Amino acid sequence: MASPDMRTPWLSSAVESFGGSFKIHIKEEEEETVETVEFFEDPSSPAYNPHNIPNPPPAPGKIRSKATNPRQLSNSDCVPNEAKDTWDKLFKEGYGADVHIITDDGSFIPAHYALLSVASPVLGNFLQQSKVKNGIRCIKIPGVPRDAVSAFIRFLYSACYDEGDMKKFVLHLLVLSHAYSVPLLKRVCISHLEQGWLNLENVIDVLQLARNCDAPRLTLFCIRMIVRNFKNISSTEGWKVMRQANPVLEQELLEFVVEADSRKQDRLKKIEEKKVYLQLHEAMEALVHICRDGCRTIGPRDKVLKASQAACSFPACKGLETLVRHFSSCKIRVPGGCVHCKRMWQLLELHSRICDEPDYCKVPLCRHFKVKMLQQTKKDAAKWKVLVSKVNAAKNAVSLFSSRRADL
Ligand SMILES: [Zn+2]
Ligand SMILES: [Zn+2]
Ligand SMILES: [Zn+2]
Repeated sequence: MASPDMRTPWLSSAVESFGGSFKIHIKEEEEETVETVEFFEDPSSPAYNPHNIPNPPPAPGKIRSKATNPRQLSNSDCVPNEAKDTWDKLFKEGYGADVHIITDDGSFIPAHYALLSVASPVLGNFLQQSKVKNGIRCIKIPGVPRDAVSAFIRFLYSACYDEGDMKKFVLHLLVLSHAYSVPLLKRVCISHLEQGWLNLENVIDVLQLARNCDAPRLTLFCIRMIVRNFKNISSTEGWKVMRQANPVLEQELLEFVVEADSRKQDRLKKIEEKKVYLQLHEAMEALVHICRDGCRTIGPRDKVLKASQAACSFPACKGLETLVRHFSSCKIRVPGGCVHCKRMWQLLELHSRICDEPDYCKVPLCRHFKVKMLQQTKKDAAKWKVLVSKVNAAKNAVSLFSSRRADL
Protein backbone atom coordinates (compact mmCIF):
# COMPACT_ATOMS: atom_id res chain seq x y z
CA MET A 1 0.00 0.00 0.00
CA ALA A 2 1.50 3.34 -1.00
CA SER A 3 1.09 5.97 1.60
CA PRO A 4 2.46 9.50 1.82
CA ASP A 5 3.14 10.10 5.49
CA MET A 6 2.96 13.55 7.03
CA ARG A 7 3.40 12.36 10.57
CA THR A 8 6.55 14.34 11.34
CA PRO A 9 5.74 16.65 14.28
CA TRP A 10 5.15 19.82 12.39
CA LEU A 11 2.51 21.22 14.67
CA SER A 12 3.32 22.80 18.01
CA SER A 13 1.17 21.74 20.91
CA ALA A 14 -0.64 24.93 21.85
CA VAL A 15 -1.94 26.12 18.53
CA GLU A 16 -1.14 23.11 16.41
CA SER A 17 1.75 25.18 15.23
CA PHE A 18 4.65 24.25 13.06
CA GLY A 19 7.57 23.07 15.11
CA GLY A 20 10.27 21.49 13.01
CA SER A 21 11.53 20.67 9.60
CA PHE A 22 8.77 19.43 7.45
CA LYS A 23 9.13 16.01 5.91
CA ILE A 24 6.85 13.84 3.92
CA HIS A 25 7.58 10.15 4.10
CA ILE A 26 6.14 8.12 1.32
CA LYS A 27 5.58 4.58 2.48
CA GLU A 28 5.11 1.51 0.40
CA GLU A 29 4.01 -0.64 3.33
CA GLU A 30 3.04 0.37 6.84
CA GLU A 31 6.55 0.49 8.34
CA GLU A 32 8.78 0.64 5.33
CA THR A 33 9.91 4.06 4.17
CA VAL A 34 10.79 4.03 0.51
CA GLU A 35 11.12 7.67 -0.15
CA THR A 36 11.47 10.83 1.88
CA VAL A 37 10.79 14.22 0.46
CA GLU A 38 12.29 17.01 2.54
CA PHE A 39 11.62 20.66 2.12
CA PHE A 40 14.66 22.53 3.29
CA GLU A 41 14.64 26.24 3.79
CA ASP A 42 16.54 27.98 1.09
CA PRO A 43 18.82 30.60 2.68
CA SER A 44 19.95 31.77 -0.74
CA SER A 45 16.51 33.01 -1.60
CA PRO A 46 16.29 36.83 -1.69
CA ALA A 47 13.21 36.64 0.51
CA TYR A 48 15.42 35.56 3.40
CA ASN A 49 18.02 38.27 3.22
CA PRO A 50 18.00 39.62 6.76
CA HIS A 51 19.25 43.00 5.62
CA ASN A 52 16.40 43.70 3.32
CA ILE A 53 12.73 43.32 4.08
CA PRO A 54 10.96 44.82 1.12
CA ASN A 55 7.24 45.33 1.10
CA PRO A 56 5.50 42.21 -0.12
CA PRO A 57 4.79 42.61 -3.82
CA PRO A 58 1.13 42.81 -4.79
CA ALA A 59 -0.51 39.54 -5.64
CA PRO A 60 -0.72 38.85 -9.37
CA GLY A 61 -3.47 40.92 -10.97
CA LYS A 62 -5.66 38.01 -11.92
CA ILE A 63 -5.68 36.63 -8.41
CA ARG A 64 -5.82 39.98 -6.74
CA SER A 65 -9.21 40.96 -8.07
CA LYS A 66 -10.64 37.71 -6.83
CA ALA A 67 -8.58 37.56 -3.71
CA THR A 68 -10.55 40.33 -2.03
CA ASN A 69 -12.89 37.47 -1.32
CA PRO A 70 -10.67 34.40 -1.30
CA ARG A 71 -13.67 32.16 -1.44
CA GLN A 72 -14.22 33.30 -4.99
CA LEU A 73 -10.97 31.63 -5.94
CA SER A 74 -12.68 28.33 -5.58
CA ASN A 75 -15.89 29.41 -7.22
CA SER A 76 -14.82 30.22 -10.72
CA ASP A 77 -17.44 32.14 -12.61
CA CYS A 78 -17.03 29.90 -15.65
CA VAL A 79 -18.17 26.73 -13.91
CA PRO A 80 -21.93 26.57 -13.26
CA ASN A 81 -22.88 25.65 -9.70
CA GLU A 82 -24.75 22.58 -10.96
CA ALA A 83 -21.52 21.15 -12.34
CA LYS A 84 -19.70 21.73 -9.08
CA ASP A 85 -22.60 20.24 -7.17
CA THR A 86 -22.34 17.11 -9.31
CA TRP A 87 -18.65 16.68 -8.49
CA ASP A 88 -19.27 17.49 -4.84
CA LYS A 89 -22.02 14.86 -4.78
CA LEU A 90 -19.75 12.30 -6.41
CA PHE A 91 -17.17 12.92 -3.65
CA LYS A 92 -19.72 12.79 -0.83
CA GLU A 93 -21.51 9.67 -2.06
CA GLY A 94 -18.39 7.91 -3.30
CA TYR A 95 -20.36 6.18 -6.04
CA GLY A 96 -18.21 3.70 -7.95
CA ALA A 97 -15.15 4.55 -5.83
CA ASP A 98 -12.00 2.57 -6.62
CA VAL A 99 -9.68 4.25 -4.08
CA HIS A 100 -9.69 4.22 -0.29
CA ILE A 101 -7.79 7.03 1.36
CA ILE A 102 -6.95 5.84 4.82
CA THR A 103 -6.63 8.45 7.54
CA ASP A 104 -5.10 8.53 11.01
CA ASP A 105 -8.30 7.52 12.80
CA GLY A 106 -8.37 4.25 10.86
CA SER A 107 -11.33 5.18 8.69
CA PHE A 108 -11.17 5.73 4.95
CA ILE A 109 -12.47 8.21 2.43
CA PRO A 110 -13.71 6.67 -0.83
CA ALA A 111 -12.46 8.35 -3.99
CA HIS A 112 -11.85 7.84 -7.69
CA TYR A 113 -8.47 6.95 -9.17
CA ALA A 114 -8.98 8.72 -12.47
CA LEU A 115 -10.15 11.96 -10.88
CA LEU A 116 -7.41 12.06 -8.23
CA SER A 117 -4.77 11.37 -10.87
CA VAL A 118 -5.95 14.28 -12.99
CA ALA A 119 -6.43 16.67 -10.07
CA SER A 120 -3.05 15.86 -8.51
CA PRO A 121 -0.45 14.10 -10.63
CA VAL A 122 1.63 13.56 -7.48
CA LEU A 123 -1.23 11.73 -5.81
CA GLY A 124 -1.84 9.89 -9.10
CA ASN A 125 1.74 8.69 -9.01
CA PHE A 126 1.37 7.30 -5.48
CA LEU A 127 -1.86 5.59 -6.49
CA GLN A 128 -0.19 4.05 -9.49
CA GLN A 129 2.40 2.47 -7.19
CA SER A 130 -0.18 1.21 -4.73
CA LYS A 131 -1.43 -2.35 -4.69
CA VAL A 132 -4.91 -3.15 -5.89
CA LYS A 133 -7.05 -5.40 -3.68
CA ASN A 134 -10.48 -6.38 -4.96
CA GLY A 135 -10.34 -3.55 -7.46
CA ILE A 136 -9.63 -0.96 -4.73
CA ARG A 137 -6.40 1.01 -4.42
CA CYS A 138 -5.46 2.03 -0.86
CA ILE A 139 -3.39 5.05 0.01
CA LYS A 140 -2.67 6.48 3.42
CA ILE A 141 -2.40 10.16 4.29
CA PRO A 142 -1.27 10.13 7.92
CA GLY A 143 -0.18 12.98 10.16
CA VAL A 144 -3.15 15.13 9.18
CA PRO A 145 -6.60 15.07 10.86
CA ARG A 146 -9.21 13.11 8.95
CA ASP A 147 -11.38 16.18 8.39
CA ALA A 148 -8.43 18.00 6.84
CA VAL A 149 -7.82 15.08 4.45
CA SER A 150 -11.51 15.05 3.64
CA ALA A 151 -11.51 18.82 2.90
CA PHE A 152 -8.45 18.30 0.71
CA ILE A 153 -9.98 15.48 -1.34
CA ARG A 154 -13.27 17.36 -1.65
CA PHE A 155 -11.37 20.32 -3.09
CA LEU A 156 -9.79 18.03 -5.67
CA TYR A 157 -13.27 17.04 -6.85
CA SER A 158 -15.13 20.33 -6.95
CA ALA A 159 -12.83 23.14 -5.76
CA CYS A 160 -15.49 23.62 -3.07
CA TYR A 161 -14.76 24.00 0.59
CA ASP A 162 -16.48 24.87 3.79
CA GLU A 163 -15.28 28.19 5.23
CA GLY A 164 -15.10 26.73 8.75
CA ASP A 165 -13.04 23.74 7.61
CA MET A 166 -10.75 25.99 5.62
CA LYS A 167 -10.14 28.21 8.63
CA LYS A 168 -9.56 25.26 10.94
CA PHE A 169 -7.26 23.33 8.61
CA VAL A 170 -5.69 26.07 6.52
CA LEU A 171 -2.15 25.13 7.58
CA HIS A 172 -2.74 21.43 6.88
CA LEU A 173 -4.31 22.27 3.55
CA LEU A 174 -1.40 24.52 2.65
CA VAL A 175 1.01 21.65 3.30
CA LEU A 176 -1.16 19.15 1.42
CA SER A 177 -1.62 21.47 -1.53
CA HIS A 178 2.13 21.94 -1.75
CA ALA A 179 3.06 18.33 -1.20
CA TYR A 180 0.52 17.03 -3.75
CA SER A 181 1.00 19.96 -6.11
CA VAL A 182 -2.47 21.49 -6.17
CA PRO A 183 -1.75 25.13 -7.09
CA LEU A 184 -5.33 26.40 -6.89
CA LEU A 185 -5.78 25.17 -3.31
CA LYS A 186 -2.39 26.59 -2.43
CA ARG A 187 -3.42 29.99 -3.73
CA VAL A 188 -6.67 29.84 -1.77
CA CYS A 189 -4.82 29.01 1.47
CA ILE A 190 -2.16 31.67 0.96
CA SER A 191 -4.75 34.24 0.04
CA HIS A 192 -6.80 33.56 3.20
CA LEU A 193 -3.70 33.81 5.36
CA GLU A 194 -2.45 36.99 3.74
CA GLN A 195 -5.82 38.64 4.00
CA GLY A 196 -6.68 38.17 7.60
CA TRP A 197 -6.05 34.74 9.02
CA LEU A 198 -2.44 35.46 9.82
CA ASN A 199 -2.19 36.54 13.46
CA LEU A 200 0.29 36.91 16.30
CA GLU A 201 -0.35 33.36 17.49
CA ASN A 202 0.07 31.51 14.21
CA VAL A 203 2.56 33.72 12.37
CA ILE A 204 5.62 31.69 13.39
CA ASP A 205 4.03 28.46 12.17
CA VAL A 206 2.83 30.08 9.00
CA LEU A 207 6.29 31.52 8.36
CA GLN A 208 7.90 28.10 8.56
CA LEU A 209 5.26 26.53 6.38
CA ALA A 210 5.45 29.39 3.90
CA ARG A 211 9.20 28.87 3.56
CA ASN A 212 8.89 25.11 3.28
CA CYS A 213 6.01 25.36 0.86
CA ASP A 214 7.70 27.88 -1.40
CA ALA A 215 5.38 30.82 -0.74
CA PRO A 216 7.74 33.83 -0.78
CA ARG A 217 5.06 36.52 -0.60
CA LEU A 218 3.46 34.94 2.44
CA THR A 219 6.95 34.63 3.92
CA LEU A 220 7.39 38.38 3.59
CA PHE A 221 4.00 39.02 5.18
CA CYS A 222 5.06 36.89 8.15
CA ILE A 223 8.47 38.52 8.55
CA ARG A 224 6.95 41.98 8.49
CA MET A 225 4.39 41.01 11.11
CA ILE A 226 7.10 39.47 13.31
CA VAL A 227 9.35 42.53 13.03
CA ARG A 228 6.49 44.87 13.88
CA ASN A 229 5.19 42.82 16.80
CA PHE A 230 8.38 41.19 18.01
CA LYS A 231 7.70 41.69 21.71
CA ASN A 232 4.33 39.93 21.64
CA ILE A 233 5.29 37.25 19.15
CA SER A 234 8.51 36.25 20.91
CA SER A 235 6.47 35.18 23.94
CA THR A 236 4.09 32.91 22.02
CA GLU A 237 4.13 29.14 22.16
CA GLY A 238 4.94 29.03 18.45
CA TRP A 239 8.13 31.02 19.01
CA LYS A 240 9.23 28.78 21.88
CA VAL A 241 8.74 25.64 19.79
CA MET A 242 10.51 27.24 16.84
CA ARG A 243 13.57 28.29 18.84
CA GLN A 244 13.96 24.70 20.05
CA ALA A 245 13.49 23.11 16.66
CA ASN A 246 15.07 25.74 14.45
CA PRO A 247 17.58 28.00 16.23
CA VAL A 248 18.96 29.15 12.88
CA LEU A 249 15.59 30.63 11.98
CA GLU A 250 15.37 32.31 15.37
CA GLN A 251 18.76 33.91 14.79
CA GLU A 252 17.66 35.06 11.36
CA LEU A 253 14.49 36.62 12.73
CA LEU A 254 16.44 38.38 15.49
CA GLU A 255 18.68 39.85 12.81
CA PHE A 256 15.63 41.12 10.97
CA VAL A 257 14.41 42.78 14.17
CA VAL A 258 17.78 44.37 14.96
CA GLU A 259 18.11 45.56 11.38
CA ALA A 260 14.63 47.10 11.43
CA ASP A 261 15.40 48.73 14.76
CA SER A 262 18.60 50.33 13.53
CA ARG A 263 16.80 51.52 10.41
CA LYS A 264 14.25 53.14 12.70
CA GLN A 265 17.06 54.81 14.71
CA ASP A 266 18.61 56.07 11.48
CA ARG A 267 15.27 57.49 10.42
CA LEU A 268 14.85 59.29 13.75
CA LYS A 269 18.39 60.65 13.50
CA LYS A 270 17.70 61.95 10.03
CA ILE A 271 14.48 63.59 11.21
CA GLU A 272 16.43 65.29 14.01
CA GLU A 273 19.09 66.43 11.56
CA LYS A 274 16.46 67.82 9.25
CA LYS A 275 15.00 69.78 12.15
CA VAL A 276 18.37 71.39 12.82
CA TYR A 277 18.80 72.41 9.17
CA LEU A 278 15.27 73.71 9.08
CA GLN A 279 16.01 75.88 12.14
CA LEU A 280 19.12 77.18 10.42
CA HIS A 281 17.11 77.99 7.34
CA GLU A 282 14.57 79.86 9.48
CA ALA A 283 17.39 81.74 11.20
CA MET A 284 18.72 82.77 7.77
CA GLU A 285 15.30 84.09 6.75
CA ALA A 286 14.87 85.94 10.04
CA LEU A 287 18.36 87.45 9.79
CA VAL A 288 17.64 88.96 6.37
CA HIS A 289 14.25 90.11 7.59
CA ILE A 290 15.67 91.80 10.72
CA CYS A 291 18.45 93.55 8.80
CA ARG A 292 16.16 94.58 5.94
CA ASP A 293 12.85 95.40 7.68
CA GLY A 294 13.77 95.67 11.33
CA CYS A 295 11.61 93.99 13.89
CA ARG A 296 10.13 94.80 17.31
CA THR A 297 12.93 96.52 19.24
CA ILE A 298 15.47 96.44 16.43
CA GLY A 299 15.14 98.86 13.57
CA PRO A 300 16.21 98.12 10.01
CA ARG A 301 19.89 98.63 9.49
CA ASP A 302 19.56 102.07 7.93
CA LYS A 303 16.09 103.14 9.10
CA VAL A 304 14.22 103.82 12.31
CA LEU A 305 11.57 101.25 13.21
CA LYS A 306 7.99 102.46 12.82
CA ALA A 307 5.94 102.14 15.99
CA SER A 308 2.97 100.76 14.08
CA GLN A 309 4.95 97.90 12.49
CA ALA A 310 2.89 94.70 12.17
CA ALA A 311 3.65 91.66 14.32
CA CYS A 312 6.45 89.50 12.94
CA SER A 313 5.69 86.20 11.24
CA PHE A 314 9.24 84.81 11.20
CA PRO A 315 9.44 81.93 13.70
CA ALA A 316 13.15 82.41 14.41
CA CYS A 317 12.99 86.16 14.68
CA LYS A 318 12.60 86.53 18.43
CA GLY A 319 15.59 84.36 19.30
CA LEU A 320 17.70 85.98 16.67
CA GLU A 321 16.73 89.46 17.79
CA THR A 322 18.14 88.71 21.24
CA LEU A 323 21.31 87.39 19.66
CA VAL A 324 21.70 90.41 17.37
CA ARG A 325 21.20 92.75 20.31
CA HIS A 326 23.83 90.89 22.31
CA PHE A 327 26.20 90.88 19.35
CA SER A 328 25.94 94.63 18.92
CA SER A 329 26.75 95.33 22.54
CA CYS A 330 29.14 92.50 23.50
CA LYS A 331 32.65 93.57 24.46
CA ILE A 332 34.44 90.47 23.24
CA ARG A 333 33.19 90.42 19.69
CA VAL A 334 35.78 88.13 18.12
CA PRO A 335 35.49 84.68 16.58
CA GLY A 336 36.19 82.13 19.26
CA GLY A 337 35.19 84.61 21.99
CA CYS A 338 31.79 84.70 23.65
CA VAL A 339 29.70 81.68 22.80
CA HIS A 340 26.75 83.82 21.65
CA CYS A 341 28.91 85.97 19.46
CA LYS A 342 30.59 82.92 18.04
CA ARG A 343 27.16 81.65 17.07
CA MET A 344 26.34 85.00 15.49
CA TRP A 345 29.57 84.94 13.46
CA GLN A 346 28.66 81.52 12.17
CA LEU A 347 25.15 82.63 11.23
CA LEU A 348 26.52 85.69 9.47
CA GLU A 349 29.04 83.60 7.56
CA LEU A 350 26.39 81.05 6.62
CA HIS A 351 24.18 83.86 5.38
CA SER A 352 26.98 85.21 3.25
CA ARG A 353 27.56 81.81 1.68
CA ILE A 354 23.89 81.48 0.85
CA CYS A 355 23.32 85.09 -0.18
CA ASP A 356 23.42 85.75 -3.90
CA GLU A 357 22.94 89.54 -3.72
CA PRO A 358 25.89 90.75 -1.61
CA ASP A 359 25.89 94.14 -3.35
CA TYR A 360 22.38 94.98 -2.15
CA CYS A 361 22.37 92.92 1.02
CA LYS A 362 21.72 94.63 4.35
CA VAL A 363 23.11 91.83 6.49
CA PRO A 364 26.33 92.93 8.21
CA LEU A 365 29.61 91.41 6.98
CA CYS A 366 27.94 89.73 4.00
CA ARG A 367 30.50 91.10 1.56
CA HIS A 368 33.32 90.69 4.07
CA PHE A 369 32.72 86.92 4.20
CA LYS A 370 32.42 86.74 0.42
CA VAL A 371 35.95 88.16 0.19
CA LYS A 372 37.18 85.88 2.98
CA MET A 373 35.79 82.89 1.11
CA LEU A 374 38.36 83.46 -1.63
CA GLN A 375 41.16 82.59 0.81
CA GLN A 376 39.56 79.61 2.52
CA THR A 377 41.16 76.16 2.62
CA LYS A 378 39.71 73.33 0.58
CA LYS A 379 38.65 71.56 3.75
CA ASP A 380 36.74 74.60 5.00
CA ALA A 381 35.13 75.10 1.61
CA ALA A 382 33.92 71.50 1.55
CA LYS A 383 32.52 71.76 5.08
CA TRP A 384 30.57 74.91 4.32
CA LYS A 385 29.40 73.52 1.01
CA VAL A 386 27.78 70.56 2.76
CA LEU A 387 26.13 72.82 5.33
CA VAL A 388 24.82 75.21 2.66
CA SER A 389 23.43 72.35 0.60
CA LYS A 390 21.63 70.88 3.63
CA VAL A 391 20.12 74.23 4.59
CA ASN A 392 19.04 74.73 0.97
CA ALA A 393 17.52 71.25 0.96
CA ALA A 394 15.53 72.15 4.10
CA LYS A 395 14.41 75.34 2.36
CA ASN A 396 13.31 73.41 -0.71
CA ALA A 397 11.45 70.88 1.43
CA VAL A 398 9.58 73.72 3.15
CA SER A 399 8.62 75.38 -0.13
CA LEU A 400 7.54 72.03 -1.58
CA PHE A 401 5.43 71.41 1.50
CA SER A 402 3.84 74.88 1.33
CA SER A 403 3.10 74.57 -2.39
CA ARG A 404 1.47 71.18 -1.77
CA ARG A 405 -0.63 72.66 1.01
CA ALA A 406 -1.63 75.51 -1.31
CA ASP A 407 -2.75 72.95 -3.87
CA LEU A 408 -5.05 71.23 -1.40
ZN1 LIG B 1 10.75 89.77 12.95
ZN1 LIG C 1 29.23 88.13 22.91
ZN1 LIG D 1 23.79 88.87 2.11
